[in-house]
Amino acid sequence: MPENVLDKFLRYVIIDTQSKEDSESYPSTAKQFDLLNLLVKELKDLRVPKVSIDEYGYVMATIPANVQKSVPAIGFIAHVDTSPEVSGANVKPHVITRYNGGDIVLSGDQTAVIRESENPALKIAHGKTIVTSDGTTLLGADDKAGLAIIMTAIQSLMDNPNIFHGDIKIGFTPDEEVGAGTKFFDIKKFGARFAYTIDGDTPGELNKETFSANSCLITVYGRDIHPGSAKNIMVNSVRVISDIIARLPKNTAPETTEGYEPYIHPYVLEGGVGKSTVKILFRDFKTEGLDILKKTVEEIVAEVQQMHPKAKIEMQISEQYRNMREELEKDTRVIDYLFEATKRSGLQPEWTPIRGGTDGSRLTENGLPTPNIFTGGANYHSRTEWVNVWGMEKAVETILNLIQIWVDHSK
Ligand SMILES: [Zn+2]
Repeated sequence: MPENVLDKFLRYVIIDTQSKEDSESYPSTAKQFDLLNLLVKELKDLRVPKVSIDEYGYVMATIPANVQKSVPAIGFIAHVDTSPEVSGANVKPHVITRYNGGDIVLSGDQTAVIRESENPALKIAHGKTIVTSDGTTLLGADDKAGLAIIMTAIQSLMDNPNIFHGDIKIGFTPDEEVGAGTKFFDIKKFGARFAYTIDGDTPGELNKETFSANSCLITVYGRDIHPGSAKNIMVNSVRVISDIIARLPKNTAPETTEGYEPYIHPYVLEGGVGKSTVKILFRDFKTEGLDILKKTVEEIVAEVQQMHPKAKIEMQISEQYRNMREELEKDTRVIDYLFEATKRSGLQPEWTPIRGGTDGSRLTENGLPTPNIFTGGANYHSRTEWVNVWGMEKAVETILNLIQIWVDHSK
């Protein structure tokens, strides 16, 4: 019996591959190589002919075309790292073979509960196999489900030479969760004309648009002096920055918005009397909308500056990523064929906007159109993360359909 997608998934999730913010090295944590190197070995065991890993950890492989037609090279990409927000060490996957509804209390921590009311995707999991963690760590379906799905599809291609395909490119990457998954990714070397990340969630959900994203750093300089002799001299940057944060719009926050609504999100605050900083995210599906968010904060800063004339306030904006929709719609084959492939797998495909970025946003911006495919996972970056194994199987099927649709439409 060839290995199935669940076998592979269970092998990958027990390997700790947590990435780290603000690391000096690349990948951000060396332990990501444990899984990257394993994938290299497994690709070679499957007799995939061209497999490589570089100093940054990028694993690339090619399965050469087995048709005479000229079919564009298609890539499939997933990331090995898990979120820095929740531990990914000593993951104990728990397989529920026939889920029959109801809340799931996780065995290692009774306070971790996967609730039906908070998980609409549990509805389509009735009677199916799902996997959870024991509640003390995340599961790592994001994105080890993607790895298992791609590896299973490759195994099918290698075992069944009668499945026709063009050049198939495989890419496994580190550091997606810290926003650096494509930092050293060599698109030319990868060699795909179009690609797909396998990093979504609910079965049938596809993604061709993401936020456009900027980050904003506000630095307030005050003046520190012993509080005993501070009258009319001290300028307390903690108070100044609090006045700024208190004025940020509460109806334009991640916790009060959904769908296509933009937000302003202060998420890291550091400081003392002499200097304080706050990091803020600007998110909008319309890139022009980012200017409005910036202006909103500029006006707040100007108002607070007037209240505290002796403080010095600086605001610095950095570009993060851009909505990929416009680029993807320039050659609609990459999205049309995906839609068709999902339908052929018996699912009702649906395009949903991602309130975040993907590695595909950056790749698309750099010339490799890369929409995103579901994995069957849910509740990413949390201890209640879980995956629907049927969803993973459907993703494998969708990839195999997609490969053949590209062949069918080529001459
Ligand atoms: Zn992911």
